[in-house]
Amino acid sequence: MTTIDIVNPATEETISVLELLDATAVDEAVARATSAQRIWAALAPAERAERLRGFADTVAAHQGELADLEVSNSGHPIGQATWEAGHVRDVLEYYATAPERLSGRQIPVAGGIDITFAEPIGVIGVITPWNFPMTIAAWAFAPALAAGNAVLVKPAEWTPLTMLRLAELAVSAGLPDGLLQTLPGRGDVVGDALITHPGVGKVVFTGSTATGTRVMERAAESVTPVTLELGGKSANIVFADSDLERAAATAPYGVFDNAGQDCCARSRILVQRTVYDRFMELFEPAVAGVTVGDPRAESTEMGPLVSRAHWEKVSSYVPDDAPVAFRGSAPTGPGFWFPPTVLTPAASDRTVRDEIFGPVVTVQTFADEAEAIALANDTPYGLSGSIWTENLSRALRVTRAVAAGNLSVNSHSSVRYSTPFGGFKQSGIGRELGPDAPFAFTETKNVFIAVADA
Ligand code: NDP
Repeated sequence: MTTIDIVNPATEETISVLELLDATAVDEAVARATSAQRIWAALAPAERAERLRGFADTVAAHQGELADLEVSNSGHPIGQATWEAGHVRDVLEYYATAPERLSGRQIPVAGGIDITFAEPIGVIGVITPWNFPMTIAAWAFAPALAAGNAVLVKPAEWTPLTMLRLAELAVSAGLPDGLLQTLPGRGDVVGDALITHPGVGKVVFTGSTATGTRVMERAAESVTPVTLELGGKSANIVFADSDLERAAATAPYGVFDNAGQDCCARSRILVQRTVYDRFMELFEPAVAGVTVGDPRAESTEMGPLVSRAHWEKVSSYVPDDAPVAFRGSAPTGPGFWFPPTVLTPAASDRTVRDEIFGPVVTVQTFADEAEAIALANDTPYGLSGSIWTENLSRALRVTRAVAAGNLSVNSHSSVRYSTPFGGFKQSGIGRELGPDAPFAFTETKNVFIAVADA
């Protein structure tokens, strides 16, 4: 039996030892999910809606427990982890309305009537990363369940605890046994078995672009459709005509939230040259003001990195001779702590190109709007970004010109469950969330009914 130690990243203590499943367990899980899906899809739409609302209520009743689990497994600050558990509830509640709204169409044709049905795909495989274990899973399982499917979630090895608990809560809330299962295991074992299993009809993968490419290749072998939510290297563009105080005060939270382990992190700040000195003057105290420390404390804004291995990766981007402009603080002692770090490297430096996925941001300057857009788009990624300007026309011109799926003006907001989320270019394929998400878990069936002449 293969096991993994689950480690608290703030203390380095082992909090749990977990058995990792193998490919045979995936076969069994798919068989159970297939039976459960038949029961689920046969329920009346209003009944499925009611059970999803019950699941949302059960999550709400366990919000504190789920948040505490995420604090100890992932090192997320308690305020953030509480929000994440509440977000899972909200996503379930939002998609609980979908079973009764999954309408087809009636299309005018000659000789009869033509109607379409949104049929459930069957069993959906979901592979999640370690950075937001609960929320990213919910973005897939909630709309997939609402559309009448069963869901098998393979969580990241380092952070399986909240998803294991959510699957238990689903059963206690009255979802059919086996409808939502969590399968802890290695990506190249359990993840790969899910992608290639003939009983799995679609795969939703969130993670790195490198692994996403591999997932797409494997899925292609059986023409299994995929949704991919991959990496990012998003720009925070600060124009001279912006509210510079607000832009500087909020910039740390656009990149250092979740210790920078966020696919939407605005990890490249682009500042118009004429206001660069003033921006940096304002930005320095804002970075120093980020409260980094014990994730159990309500006042903490940033916790540790998720693991020793990830700490080593992030650290490799900030060697002793790195062009550090300034840094925030971080605790010493046990835990994978890394201070918020601001770099001013050459444009060709790998810190400007690579997704570091830690609390490290680069600052570059630009002369005018055209150069800002060119720099923002000079990346294989296209997930997110922010534009700071008081000029409405400029805001609209630049948002239309930046090739990214989720942009915000005078804010760093990226994710609302009611709006679509996903990436351009190598940041992914498909969209999650928003009103259309359940349709991504259906097949359109077209039916023509001949009507005989009288
Ligand atoms: P990885 O790509 O390493 O892993 C993601 C998941 O895929 C894990 O569950 C992993 O399992 C699994 N996996 C690994 N290898 C395979 C394989 N051969 N077949 C199937 N599954 C596999 O990403 P990280 O967990 O390191 O997450 C960080 C990355 O995710 C960052 O690049 C980030 O940008 C991206 N991300 C993107 C988001 C988006 O919405 N666009 C959101 C969040 C993160 P195991 O744990 O066993 O390795």
